[in-house]
Amino acid sequence: MANQDDLFKKITSHCKEYGFIFQSSEIYDGLAATYDYGPYGILLKNNIKDYWWKSMVQMHENIVGIDAAIFMHPTTWKASGHVDAFNDPMLDNKDSKKRYRADVLIEEYMDKIEAKINKEITKAKKRFGDAFDEEQFRATNPRVLANTEKKDNIAARLAKAMTDGDMDDLKAQIEEYGIVCPASGSRNWTDVRQFNLMFSTQLGAVAGEEGKLYLRPETAQGIFVNFLNVQKSSRQKLPFGIAQIGKAFRNEIVARQFIFRMREFEQMEMQFFIKPGTQMKWYEYWKESRLKWHKAIGHESENLRFHDHDNLAHYADAAVDIQFNFPFGFKELEGIHSRTDFDLASHQEHSGKKLQYFDPETKESYIPYVLETSIGCDRMFLATISHAYTQEMVPDSKGGEAERTVLKIHPALAPIKCAVLPLVKNKPELTEKARKIFDSVKAYFDCQYDEKDAIGRRYRRQDAIGTPYCITVDFETLEDDTVTIRERDSLAQERIPISKIAEIVKERTDMAALFVG
Ligand code: ATP
Repeated sequence: MANQDDLFKKITSHCKEYGFIFQSSEIYDGLAATYDYGPYGILLKNNIKDYWWKSMVQMHENIVGIDAAIFMHPTTWKASGHVDAFNDPMLDNKDSKKRYRADVLIEEYMDKIEAKINKEITKAKKRFGDAFDEEQFRATNPRVLANTEKKDNIAARLAKAMTDGDMDDLKAQIEEYGIVCPASGSRNWTDVRQFNLMFSTQLGAVAGEEGKLYLRPETAQGIFVNFLNVQKSSRQKLPFGIAQIGKAFRNEIVARQFIFRMREFEQMEMQFFIKPGTQMKWYEYWKESRLKWHKAIGHESENLRFHDHDNLAHYADAAVDIQFNFPFGFKELEGIHSRTDFDLASHQEHSGKKLQYFDPETKESYIPYVLETSIGCDRMFLATISHAYTQEMVPDSKGGEAERTVLKIHPALAPIKCAVLPLVKNKPELTEKARKIFDSVKAYFDCQYDEKDAIGRRYRRQDAIGTPYCITVDFETLEDDTVTIRERDSLAQERIPISKIAEIVKERTDMAALFVG
């Protein structure tokens, strides 16, 4: 675990040093759980959004996009259930005065039990070598069995308390398991209370509850209230989807782990409207489709897993998370939810406006069911950068080895696709030629010109921001109009004509390959 903590620290400081992410309002010592994206961060983030948007809207004839306002009529949040039920259970430690989420404290306690199980398995693996059968070991080892049973029982009891909104039982569990405050080490807890996560603000000159507006805690509701507008104007028939990328706000109690849990973040959500009764078919379809999307950019199967929800949200009849193996363990990256007709039916009731679909085949009108995929753009950013961050030894120019830090980001998502570098700085014929090349390719992709420092250091800088290709302009270039192109991961170098640079880099960094390959 210490190593993983260390890795996470390295990743966060790399993000700052190389202009990916800064603490918000840092000169005022920052604002908790709020971050700003820097010059490379915004490029990577835009590419992630582009990848998601294209996979949804461009690749599906029956998915269209919208961009709804952050502010919505306040009744929206009554209808969606957020005013009454968008709560987290919180409690304070009386000694440290720190606030915690009760369910998170219990989950962290379960993580410790899981760590014990994993330790037994690692030990046994070492002892038995190749002959080790993990499945059999899990099924027979008494210590592993006891801990697994303990963990399962806690998970079931936690799920029940969360579903029932039983704050007393959450408190009882924290006491029974002897959970201490990580800051003070004490068990001096307050009672557990519900805490609503929505931020509110006031509309213009209207005072009191009348003028109370919420900052949207999810983008989905902007899609639901526009369902008929979109369906009619785009002449879509069921099944069809509406996609949206936008900011969401939650007054999170525990906002730690960098951009994993923020109070202002971005969601990429798609609501797929379907005929009632077909939800399980579409649930399976979107589970598979979304997993494929993650794997296509090189995120391996062993770092991704499905996790069924233990306690279903008030709107769902089936729900699963795609979890990613972050440096701090497997955590939710994306949710896939079968939301039934909960939202549309509730908006129909609260607004008094019909939100039904006329099915031209069966000649019936009904409220469609909804299958939703919802992913945090910032969490996807963290997954991408954690996966890409690599420290490795590579051959140096003197025949030895040197350590480099490289971001092995999929070329289609990389912030800068190609850097143009004159071999040396103080030769005007080289720098002029390199600048000309840079000017001739910059219209095709994000590209950078760099002449400062020795060539080796410039390569390292490009590695550190994940640039997949470096073009080096040397003396041979002046004679035959060829350059070397260096590939980031393999370090392979090829000689290519200047006239081919744009075509080659474009082809090798093209996002389309992620959809057709
Ligand atoms: P969690 O259990 O981690 O609080 P959630 O189940 O409340 O997440 P959803 O409401 O399903 O999350 O939101 C969909 C997605 O939005 C999540 O999978 C996650 O990627 C992202 N997300 C939710 N809350 C945050 C946050 N505070 N900061 C960053 N991303 C978030």
